[in-house]
Amino acid sequence: MPVWCCRCSLAGHFRNYSDTETEGEIFNSLVQYFGDNLGQKVKAMPLVEETSLLEDSSVTLPVVVIGNGPSGICLSYMLSGYRPYLSSEAIHPNAILHSKLEEGRHLSIVDQDLEYLSEGLEGRSSNPVAVLFDTLLHPDADFGYDYPSVLHWKLEQHHYIPHLVLGKGPPGGAWHNMEGSMLTISFGNWMELPGLKFKDWVSSKRRNLKGDRVMPEEIARYYKHYVKVMGLQKNFRENTYITSVSRLYRDQGEGDGQDRNISTQHLQIEKSKLIKRNWEIRGYQRVADGSHVPFCLFAENVALATGTLDSPAHLEIEGEDLPFVFHSMPEFGAAIGKGKLRGKADPVLIVGSGLTAADAVLCAYNNNIPVIHAFRRRVTDPSLIFKQLPKKLYPEYHKVYHMMCTQSYSVDSTLLSAYTSFPEHHVLSFKPDMKCILQSISGLKKIFKLSAAVVLIGSHPSLSFLKEQGCYLGHNSSQPITCKTNPVEIDAYTYECVKEANLFALGPLVGDNFVRFLKGGALGVTRCLATRQKKKHLFVERGGGDGIA
Ligand SMILES: Cc1cc2nc3c(=O)[nH]c(=O)nc-3n(C[C@H](O)[C@H](O)[C@H](O)COP(=O)(O)OP(=O)(O)OC[C@H]3O[C@@H](n4cnc5c(N)ncnc54)[C@H](O)[C@@H]3O)c2cc1C
Repeated sequence: MPVWCCRCSLAGHFRNYSDTETEGEIFNSLVQYFGDNLGQKVKAMPLVEETSLLEDSSVTLPVVVIGNGPSGICLSYMLSGYRPYLSSEAIHPNAILHSKLEEGRHLSIVDQDLEYLSEGLEGRSSNPVAVLFDTLLHPDADFGYDYPSVLHWKLEQHHYIPHLVLGKGPPGGAWHNMEGSMLTISFGNWMELPGLKFKDWVSSKRRNLKGDRVMPEEIARYYKHYVKVMGLQKNFRENTYITSVSRLYRDQGEGDGQDRNISTQHLQIEKSKLIKRNWEIRGYQRVADGSHVPFCLFAENVALATGTLDSPAHLEIEGEDLPFVFHSMPEFGAAIGKGKLRGKADPVLIVGSGLTAADAVLCAYNNNIPVIHAFRRRVTDPSLIFKQLPKKLYPEYHKVYHMMCTQSYSVDSTLLSAYTSFPEHHVLSFKPDMKCILQSISGLKKIFKLSAAVVLIGSHPSLSFLKEQGCYLGHNSSQPITCKTNPVEIDAYTYECVKEANLFALGPLVGDNFVRFLKGGALGVTRCLATRQKKKHLFVERGGGDGIA
């Protein structure tokens, strides 16, 4: 894949965003603030002094993306100017969609009417653009087919929209924090990003895929490689923690939800408002010596791609913060790795009936650590995830499910040596002497001495950097944002937050928890921003003649 000169494209595109600075000044500011963007070590220099006044900063970025997982990476790819076209020889199995694609063959999908294309499509996402993009990239995948994508990608540098992608860890997001020994739920190619086949990458590393499911570590490595090979690195800043995102600028008439497009009239009134410091983004970057360097950035648009794994759900019971109670697989894995649980006769309590809890059961089981497994649901509950996974493809999860069903605790029995399940039980409390109290649905209480407890009952997005923790963005603004029940409310085709203009959200935050579907968010956001940029150009070209464009 070609890697273009970021210096030219950054300077060239910033021209359109500022009427008070020369290209050179803007570029110098960028280099000063962001360090050398050609892959060298990031300088230990604040982007802007924490204390500096807004007026002192000269750079307003068109887009800042918060989160560098697959959502942020895919968005950066498309903002960088990569455009999808219908491949010349491709025939989509959906005849209606295919004829629509033929009509717009000369246009990239980004320049087409996404509402028209996605009309009538059905899939496992409630976001129509997610379903559309998925069916273009993986036609009929849910019917068990492995058809190639009908799209091919071209790099069109003139579409580059300057942006920064900020994330706590390396590019790849949550995939860097998953337990190493487990396999993904999805097939490897479902986690791939546009333009680089996962299988091709694996074979280029001279490794063979043993099956269709892969280790999360492989996916994490693929994402890191993807950022490099697609020439996106200059847009990425890792070890970066966002602590506050606040709105500085509002268009008059904004907030009524009527017209989000740049108002031509407004621009005519005041040219200087072409630099719109809509958002102030504050945070710190962890540098090589471990110190934290604060920064402050300004952006016209912010895209939230922070995923859902940052805040593990708690039981909210007494003793939950005791040191022997963990809330994530990495914590549990680390305790095992350090040998803390080796040779302990007391069992580990694992709480939860999802796949992460099943991973913890397998992990303990494989390390000969006795397990008691408590969950609220009946083993026959049809909504248990195990019921939705084919046995042949997911033998390890079916092994756990089998134990959940057949190795249950009964009042007159003792704990089984390796594994005992407690269906329809909940934890009442944890005690400092490492005991826990379990209660059955009928009210019967039991006390157990533990060597550790692992609570794996889901996780919530953390939008603590936004006002009201971001709750006001949800469908139900009085509740915290959750992937399943209260996602961020967005426009179905632009992914712009319904309750906040120039703020976009994608991935699990809008209910798309699978990589297959979160790519639709990148398409929707890119189309929206590209359309607005085009309108701005048109205005400047027509009304201008004033040297802005
Ligand atoms: C155990 C497990 C197994 C999974 N298996 C599969 C699977 O098989 N197939 C599949 O499709 N999906 C799977 N998923 C879901 C998958 O992880 C998500 O779909 C995907 O990672 C979401 O991508 P994202 O980019 O939106 O968010 P993430 O990958 O979560 O990345 C978001 C990043 O933003 C960072 N961030 C958050 N807040 C801030 C902040 N304030 N400042 C800076 N950075 C911040 C986070 O640290 C994180 O690195 C699995 C998830 C888990 C936990």
